[in-house]
Amino acid sequence: MRTSPGMTIIGSGFAGLCMAIKLKEAGYHDFVILEKAAELGGTWRDNTYPGCACDVPSHMYSFSFELNPGWSRMFSPQEEIRDYLRACAEKYGLGPHLRFGTEVVSLEYDDAARAWRVGTADGEAFTTNAVVSGAGALHLPSFPEIAGRERFRGPAFHSAGWDHSVDLTGKRVAVIGTGASAVQFVPEIARRAAHLTVYQRTAPWIQPKPDFAFPERARRLLALPGAARTLRNAIYWTLETRALGFTVDPRLMKAHEALALRHLERQVPDPGLRARLTPDYTIGCKRILLSDDYYPALTRENVEVVTDAITEIREGSIVDAAGRETAADVIVYGTGFKVVDALNDQRITGRNGRKIQDAWQDGVEAYHGVTVAGFPNLFFLLGPNTGLGHNSVVFMIESQVRYVIGCLRLLSRTGARALDVRPEAQRAFNDRLQRRLSALVWNEGGCRSWYLDSRGVNRTVWPGFTFEYWARTRKVDPGAYRLIR
Ligand SMILES: Cc1cc2nc3c(=O)[nH]c(=O)nc-3n(C[C@H](O)[C@H](O)[C@H](O)COP(=O)(O)OP(=O)(O)OC[C@H]3O[C@@H](n4cnc5c(N)ncnc54)[C@H](O)[C@@H]3O)c2cc1C
Repeated sequence: MRTSPGMTIIGSGFAGLCMAIKLKEAGYHDFVILEKAAELGGTWRDNTYPGCACDVPSHMYSFSFELNPGWSRMFSPQEEIRDYLRACAEKYGLGPHLRFGTEVVSLEYDDAARAWRVGTADGEAFTTNAVVSGAGALHLPSFPEIAGRERFRGPAFHSAGWDHSVDLTGKRVAVIGTGASAVQFVPEIARRAAHLTVYQRTAPWIQPKPDFAFPERARRLLALPGAARTLRNAIYWTLETRALGFTVDPRLMKAHEALALRHLERQVPDPGLRARLTPDYTIGCKRILLSDDYYPALTRENVEVVTDAITEIREGSIVDAAGRETAADVIVYGTGFKVVDALNDQRITGRNGRKIQDAWQDGVEAYHGVTVAGFPNLFFLLGPNTGLGHNSVVFMIESQVRYVIGCLRLLSRTGARALDVRPEAQRAFNDRLQRRLSALVWNEGGCRSWYLDSRGVNRTVWPGFTFEYWARTRKVDPGAYRLIR
């Protein structure tokens, strides 16, 4: 490894790759991308479960500067998105910058050198002027704390680490969790397993998935100048209308709720099962899921939905709060990711030896979700409160990448070595944000979601329209930063 690259990017998912592409475009070539895995792709490398696909239409869930008229479906499968990212890396010549098998374990700011010291898992350390973290928000699998989990003797794996060596055909499978991944893989398992038990803690709101394969002719049309852009814009504005309910008044989500309830009614004739699958909180409080085959899978003879909490896992079975013991050969965890914890667990030491955990003792936050006071030249992509429930996060990533480039330009313009966001700017930004969030569906919708931290504060979702975020981050306000020379 070069001893001191000008910039260091952590991660090679949508975020890290976007940062690298835009850095090159802006004329910065002195950077490395450190990736702990052996391949690029992030989410789309790790999640290989059957049925894995995006749930924002592909023409929107992709880079605005790299449209792909050839998407095979409205919601393309995992392999295709992974290949798209690989193709982007290839096209933009990122190969020489990528260092695989390199896990960043610590970041330490050296006040004297005005540079970051990056420590990696193999014991190497080097200095760099700036760090961009694209380490991913939905990256570290989360497992539930259930007594006896380690006692289970059969195969047990998380959806983000699917064990393809396990053939589920004819097996008794237990799925724990009914989130965005589970609704995609449950129908696939149901077709193969002898028996499938789905353990549901909270029923998700599910709407029809307008998915279809683009015929060859449509793809040829989409390759015409302006066509893919027009489709993307149409999708963008359609999805943005959903933000009205999220960001203005949850009552505006009534139409969405009606659509979801109709979908449930149409697909689940049994009133008993339907009652168990009917959510008891306002739609949008948790991510709204899209699926046409999840409910039908649950109505199959070989599938059972259990809504009683799991009390214990034994060697070959699962016991629930109703006292029922259900035999299982395989357990699949569809229990999501560590989101807020993942940010807070990082070993990052800023100015004057201050740990990020101290900076975040009252909660994880950043200015525009990107910079944190006391941690100069450290930029988070998809950092605190910049996730979305209604549109593509790639849009947010692109806004943030442009913001980071703006910060770098400010540095070159002023000849400063580093910039550090002023605590008062960060405070004002987050106070406004939390005030706004307090009345919205994620806090008031009657559910407990991974959007909230342990104190019930939303540290995950952007509470507005995405164009608003875009507008706010379009220009760097020099007054919000202290320049370090
Ligand atoms: C199954 C699934 C489906 C999804 N579908 C959608 C969707 O339809 N629409 C949408 O908007 N969002 C979706 N998401 C969210 C998705 O995570 C983001 O859209 C996006 O892929 C995030 O990109 P990223 O680059 O920020 O993070 P990631 O893709 O998670 O990439 C992070 C990368 O950083 C690497 N890394 C992490 N820590 C370190 C370290 N310490 N050192 C070195 N490398 C490190 C990881 O190995 C990984 O490659 C989905 C998520 C999942 C799990």
